[in-house]
Amino acid sequence: MGHWRRLFPTIMRLLLRWLRLCPRWARGHRSAQLQELWSYSRLLLKSLCFNSLCSSDVVLDSVFEPVYWLVDHFTRWFGVLFVSLVILLTSSVVLIVYYYVLPMIISSYPTPWIAWHLCYGHWNLVMVVFHYYKATRTDPGHPPLIKNDTPSVSICKKCIIPKPPRTHHCSICNRCVLKMDHHCPWLNNCVGHFNHRYFFSFCLFMTMGCIYCSVSCWNMFVGAYSAIEVSPCDPSVILLKSYYQTPEPSFSFHERMFHKCIIYVWVLTSSVAVALGGLTLWHAALITHGETSVERHINRKESRRLKDRGKIFQNPYNYGRMQNWKLFFGVEKCSHWLTRFLLPSAHTPYGDGLVWEWSVNRSYPTAI
Ligand SMILES: [Zn+2]
Ligand SMILES: [Zn+2]
Repeated sequence: MGHWRRLFPTIMRLLLRWLRLCPRWARGHRSAQLQELWSYSRLLLKSLCFNSLCSSDVVLDSVFEPVYWLVDHFTRWFGVLFVSLVILLTSSVVLIVYYYVLPMIISSYPTPWIAWHLCYGHWNLVMVVFHYYKATRTDPGHPPLIKNDTPSVSICKKCIIPKPPRTHHCSICNRCVLKMDHHCPWLNNCVGHFNHRYFFSFCLFMTMGCIYCSVSCWNMFVGAYSAIEVSPCDPSVILLKSYYQTPEPSFSFHERMFHKCIIYVWVLTSSVAVALGGLTLWHAALITHGETSVERHINRKESRRLKDRGKIFQNPYNYGRMQNWKLFFGVEKCSHWLTRFLLPSAHTPYGDGLVWEWSVNRSYPTAI
């Protein structure tokens, strides 16, 4: 009760003051005050939202941020699934080849052909397994998080660190990657400076392995396909049987399994050979020109821009076709083609991925 006794006079005083002010507002002060309040609120909002780096790209990025977030998270989680799928499919093909194809080759082929299949098949398998393991387990390389003297070309807006040349931010790994090519869900890893060679070698040897399997299994595939196609349910077979009274072809469980496995191996390896072969050729073209997948897009854009101004674009990291391949595989002498390209090798790539030599004069127009 005492509380209300103290509060009542205060409320009355405020009410009287408000009534005294009312006529002044009526004379136009109210609109002026409201205007002042409105402009002050706008200024406050602008100062809170002001960003000197704000552009249409930033606004679009912000609008699409939830979509990027979803895609990035799905790719991150699906990476584990994709890696398991690669291991599972490759293992199934290898098991079928060991269980069905190899015994048939050994029992029916001449000795030189058996030796060829044994040597080539095992060499190809070792190369695929080694390069896939190294590509998934090798860190692609990241720029240092602490301040140093490494030359940089820009600042990463996500990591807030200087970006050395050829470095790009991977939104799936949420880190900057040295000489970034792309994020590969089939490896569940980024392809960058330290594992680019492993990735390309895996693609190359996997394609070669798939071509080898589909070519080697071609005759078996034709036999298995015709055996499965001429099934007792086929009306033409029933008609033939009734006319000639020939018994329908009967296959044992082992033979039926053999036919299905051969068809599975041939269809899978042929499809992968075509798809992965295309990807390998694309990457081979990029390596020949001394570019990564990211740089290809940037360089194309830059060369179009410069062409409109009558200038020619030159890639500063293109050291010549042969030299690009030598640098990529780390070949310093002829014997390295055998030891570093045709055999499993864990040598590190040329350079640290932070500093890059320019192949052209710095006065030339280039894109970084
Ligand atoms: Zn970054
Ligand atoms: Zn990544």
